[in-house]
Amino acid sequence: MNQVDYLRISLIDRCNFRCQYCMPEGVELEYALKQQLLTDAELLTLIQEVFIPVGFTQFRLTGGEPLLRPGVVELVKAIASLPATKDLSMTTNGFLLAPIAHSLYDAGLRRINISLDSLDPDIFDQIIGNRGRSRWQQVWDGIQAAYNVGFDPLKLNVVVIPGVNDHEVLDLAALTIDKQWHVRFIEFMPIGNSQLFGDRGWISSADLRQQIREQWGLTESQVRGSGPADVFQIPGAKGTLGFISQMSECFCDRCNRMRLSADGWLRPCLLNETGQLDLKTALRTGIKTSQLQEQVRHLLAIKPEINFKGRDSGTTGTYTRTMSQIGG
Ligand code: SAM
Ligand code: SF4
Repeated sequence: MNQVDYLRISLIDRCNFRCQYCMPEGVELEYALKQQLLTDAELLTLIQEVFIPVGFTQFRLTGGEPLLRPGVVELVKAIASLPATKDLSMTTNGFLLAPIAHSLYDAGLRRINISLDSLDPDIFDQIIGNRGRSRWQQVWDGIQAAYNVGFDPLKLNVVVIPGVNDHEVLDLAALTIDKQWHVRFIEFMPIGNSQLFGDRGWISSADLRQQIREQWGLTESQVRGSGPADVFQIPGAKGTLGFISQMSECFCDRCNRMRLSADGWLRPCLLNETGQLDLKTALRTGIKTSQLQEQVRHLLAIKPEINFKGRDSGTTGTYTRTMSQIGG
């Protein structure tokens, strides 16, 4: 069992996109009210006085769309400047990134993942639920801005949906050949999107690898992150290809993470709500952070039993929240 030292922090549950696989149109979402969200001060208290003392040193800011959070640059600066922060990263849809990429870098953010499911603006807009002026170019500009500023590694997250963007797998993989970009294919999960998942199904990482292998060959990369991705490389490519296979493989035993939702729930497993802690209410009712440390330590101790264990255990998990609400 891995040491659990990585916290994914959702800064906000709202988003400026409505990706079909994450926040499908027609599905009514209940957003947290402003007063239900952790304030910056509460979040920093939790990080400094609860998470760091129990051993967390790596933080990823996500959402919803983290760049919608007012004051996000200052928050990045505050977390990055904590001596115990070993690693700070962000996952964003990139739409608002270009103008603030530099400030985020200056604030101490060094690693960024940007979601990019298609290189075709029409398909991209269809996936993100956009009916107005195409949003693809602005996201692409965000990616270029992040690259030019020097984010390293710069990762592009792709969710492959059969019949929607699966014909672009090779084009997306080819982005890693000339630039040191890292494309990560994430298996499509049935969270908050049962209609789409039922209609389309999903494609395994092994199938994607096979397509890529037939085109260029594929070698296992020497670069291995601390996360769940299996990392490969097209021979001679500058960047890498990561495959996150939570549907086809059970990697619970190497899970090193927990998730903190924007409204302050600490969740030990993405696919199982057992054991969640309401840290925001605890803070607001005056419970001492030393007591919260004890509760989180207990959650860390029981995490191996809570982990989903996927197909192996035959459990179904509980999905009452969407990825955007959990902090994907
Ligand atoms: N809004 C940001 C973004 O899209 O990058 C951050 C939050 S989003 C929930 C984080 C990641 O979760 C994205 O890379 C997205 O593609 C992925 N994701 C969301 N729903 C998913 C699903 N049903 N299956 C697999 N990945 C999903
Ligand atoms: Fe928004 Fe990210 Fe979910 Fe898309 S995947 S709807 S960008 S939170």
